Amino acid sequence: MADHDSGSKKPATQVVTGGRRKNWTGAVVNPPVWRGSTHLYDDVAHLREGLKSNDDGRFFYGRRGSPTQWSLAAALTEMEPGAAGTMLYPSGVAAISCSLLAVLKPGDEILLTDSSYDPSRSFADAFLKRMGITARYYDPLIGAEIADLFSPATRAILMESPGSLTFEVQDVPAICEAASAAGIVTLLDNTWATSHFFPALEKGVDIAITAATKYIVGHSDVMMGAVTTHGKYWTRLRRTAQQLGQVVSPDDAYLAARGLRTLDVRLRQHEASALKMAHWLKERPEVGLVLHPALPDCPGHDIWKRDFKGASGLFSFELADGDDQTRAAFIDALELFGIGYSWGGFESLALPVDPKKHRTATQWQQKGPLVRLNIGLEHPDDLIADLAKAFEHYHSVQS
Ligand SMILES: *Cc1c(COP(=O)(O)O)cnc(C)c1O
Repeated sequence: MADHDSGSKKPATQVVTGGRRKNWTGAVVNPPVWRGSTHLYDDVAHLREGLKSNDDGRFFYGRRGSPTQWSLAAALTEMEPGAAGTMLYPSGVAAISCSLLAVLKPGDEILLTDSSYDPSRSFADAFLKRMGITARYYDPLIGAEIADLFSPATRAILMESPGSLTFEVQDVPAICEAASAAGIVTLLDNTWATSHFFPALEKGVDIAITAATKYIVGHSDVMMGAVTTHGKYWTRLRRTAQQLGQVVSPDDAYLAARGLRTLDVRLRQHEASALKMAHWLKERPEVGLVLHPALPDCPGHDIWKRDFKGASGLFSFELADGDDQTRAAFIDALELFGIGYSWGGFESLALPVDPKKHRTATQWQQKGPLVRLNIGLEHPDDLIADLAKAFEHYHSVQS
């Protein structure tokens, strides 16, 4: 079989063929796990040759990876038309912090969405602040009007669409257009959709960040982050990661690549099951808003329809007349839904979430408490039965 040129193929094919170059896989399907800190050279001339160029895809030193990591990175790059390369990090948070460190310097200002993943916020408010970088927050529904917030010091925008906990869908193309006209670099936390449902670079994003821990790995057993960018920022991103000593183990890269092969079918099932659950919840008398980008309740729903190729399995809903205690009783009564943070796996999860305390540029006005659901790959009928039973319990504890 010849090496694949996945560039022109459909995304479902790309996740199957991506990165599986013959010189990396050998005679087997998956690239083997190459464990190694020391890379051995044939002779001194070969050693000196290695120092001359700093490229991926060649042995140099353990931190620069092996065919196991190169193959995964190449597969992720192929999912983003226009990309120059992908760096891998030991977690999604490392991917976010290292991308920001690659583009910011003391005196700069960064704009972040008010719906940011909380660790992104705390990195900006604590770590970046200490470096003399100012963080300001914007309304996730701001669109092109973000230009009104630009100051001469504004250097970067960190978007997240849909937003964490509350799922507002942002007008990413409009924000990127305004930023690009002002020479501001755009970064997107694309964990919810992945490049499979939202090829970010095509939408104008400079630096696309994914917590691969979630859907790429897909089995709740590996932590990893990935950042894909085009030619303008690639060298800087890569050098910063090298300078900070970022590396992922070949064992983890192997598992992430294995997860990636089934991304298309998993995401489609997560999408179908989560939609079924969201529509069912919307009909329940106990439920207020259903914050699922494919439902009209969700702020930015029209933008989701315009820009996304699909929806994944994570969304929130409001218990209209609930409080903290009855919400806890509801969640505790669920049997198929685990209680935990890290989503994107095959198992369903339920989590109490409270966006109010994470806001500074906007206010979260909704009265009822929110429950965030990760819809896994169990049969949706069983999940619905579980939710129905938990609602019965919820009524029994309501005064
Ligand atoms: C989980 C998550 C991250 C962080 O990923 P980790 O691998 O857990 O560090 C970043 N962004 C979003 C939106 C996430 O949900």
